[in-house]
Amino acid sequence: MTDLVARLREAIGETEQVAKDAEQENWRWYAEDKTVMTHGQDGEWEGYRTTGTRADAEHIARHDPTTVIRRCAADRKILDLHGLMPRPLKNGMPTGWACSICDDGEGTYNYPCETVQIVAEFYEVEA
Ligand SMILES: [Zn+2]
Repeated sequence: MTDLVARLREAIGETEQVAKDAEQENWRWYAEDKTVMTHGQDGEWEGYRTTGTRADAEHIARHDPTTVIRRCAADRKILDLHGLMPRPLKNGMPTGWACSICDDGEGTYNYPCETVQIVAEFYEVEA
């Protein structure tokens, strides 16, 4: 695992933990005009926050804890898919390591691959 991937997994974990700390059981945000609201499993409204605009409320609702936790899980799957693998041997000599998906076998892809770097951009983890 490269340093970038390790730092990225740590950033994903931190983001997920913040969302879990904020989350109550099945807590979701819903936009209602300039307000975001939550409700419990029984459907009863449990809380609300007023926001500046309808757009603010929509934005917050679309990034509620449940959504963030789902995003973190999806990003981990992307990292797992684009994992580091040994490149095939040539003339009995190892040819290095590469992404298990993006490697073209010609050594033109470095690791972390572009896909992993794009995920890192979201978490503001720099190479
Ligand atoms: Zn890749």
